[in-house]
Amino acid sequence: MQVVDQKYKIQGINLTDLATKYGTPLYVYDGEKIRSQISALKAAFSSVTMRIKYATKALSNVNILRLVKDSGVGVDAVSIEEVKLCLHVGFEPGDIMYTPNCVSFQEIQEAVDLGVMVNIDNIPMLEHFGHAYGDKVPLCIRLNPHILAGGNAKISVGHIDSKFGISILQLKHVTRVVEAYKLNVVGLHVHTGSDILDAEVFLKGAEILFDAANSFKDLRFLDFGGGFKVGYKQGDITTNIQELGEKVSMAFKDFCRSYGRELEIWFEPGKYIVSESGYLLVKANVIKSTPATTFVGVDSGLNHLLRPMMYDAYHDVVNISRTDGPDRVYTIVGYICETDTIAADRRLKEIKEGDIIAIKNAGAYGFSMASNYNSRPRPAEVLLLGGKDYMIRKRESFDDILKHQEMVSW
Ligand SMILES: *Cc1c(COP(=O)(O)O)cnc(C)c1O
Repeated sequence: MQVVDQKYKIQGINLTDLATKYGTPLYVYDGEKIRSQISALKAAFSSVTMRIKYATKALSNVNILRLVKDSGVGVDAVSIEEVKLCLHVGFEPGDIMYTPNCVSFQEIQEAVDLGVMVNIDNIPMLEHFGHAYGDKVPLCIRLNPHILAGGNAKISVGHIDSKFGISILQLKHVTRVVEAYKLNVVGLHVHTGSDILDAEVFLKGAEILFDAANSFKDLRFLDFGGGFKVGYKQGDITTNIQELGEKVSMAFKDFCRSYGRELEIWFEPGKYIVSESGYLLVKANVIKSTPATTFVGVDSGLNHLLRPMMYDAYHDVVNISRTDGPDRVYTIVGYICETDTIAADRRLKEIKEGDIIAIKNAGAYGFSMASNYNSRPRPAEVLLLGGKDYMIRKRESFDDILKHQEMVSW
């Protein structure tokens, strides 16, 4: 988003015009940004065979999935529905990794029947898998190295209390099951959470996985999950992808030499690919001063963007209706009947009723976590590509709220 001729624009398109054309609240995605993030990641790992498996759950609109697919990227799916969504878009089953947790074995069988690689995250399921398929179906195993990702316990999934993955401490048990059923383990996986800051933390996890890999003879890839950190506010420390690429590639090549075979290195970024591409445009309904603060109430809330309330996530906000005039300090809140703070104590260009506020970094875990809470329809989604705007999801209507409800008689 840039200011050009006193207007906030992306790819030359005026964002307030989009708000007028499609209404608010509105999710807008900069498709070129998605492409450039993918290119940057590929460039950082150009010295090894690296595969990207975009984490579908971050933003799962079929057009985004197609855009990602056309950039030569595969996908990671965490539900059988996401698997089907990716197949629907045209991904080959071989380009889809299915990483479920706590699903029934029926769902895993369904994925195997669809030809998709399954990433097994607990020992009982590994035993079911062995019983059903033996050495016939290649699989990946998700390990938990117990590395804490960043400081935010709400997004870290690698700690000792986490439900995800098979504890690295159970590796011996895993290899017993693998040997007993002659399982064809072709990949090992770790995903420690969504806040990997630097190469050092990453390498700590990597060393543990390299070590574990020596217990498996037929690996084709090691999958390091997602979790690259992107900037949410000015001055945020972000993953230096170039540096990470160099250091991790070097360590990976060393490992491959000692393992005796060239493996592929996989990543499953969600946030890194789509977070910065996304903007949630909302309208200021009311500016309300209390003795303590000035609230701006907007036509959206935690029903459309849950991250601020769920993860205490900081999202930068901009009054895109004004590029000059005085700044004021505001707290932006939603219209949901809950404490529903989107952004507290922010200095913004003076807001008038009807102004459009852009909430940044809304691409990842924005729409995909949206709900109909308070019986509110979900926003429309617009994709910007090659200087054109495409509506990729219609705004929901009141009929959609009623859609699956039956008025029964009793
Ligand atoms: C959510 C998830 C990711 C993506 O995490 P980001 O922080 O968005 O990069 C990757 N892999 C798995 C298994 C996940 O559940």
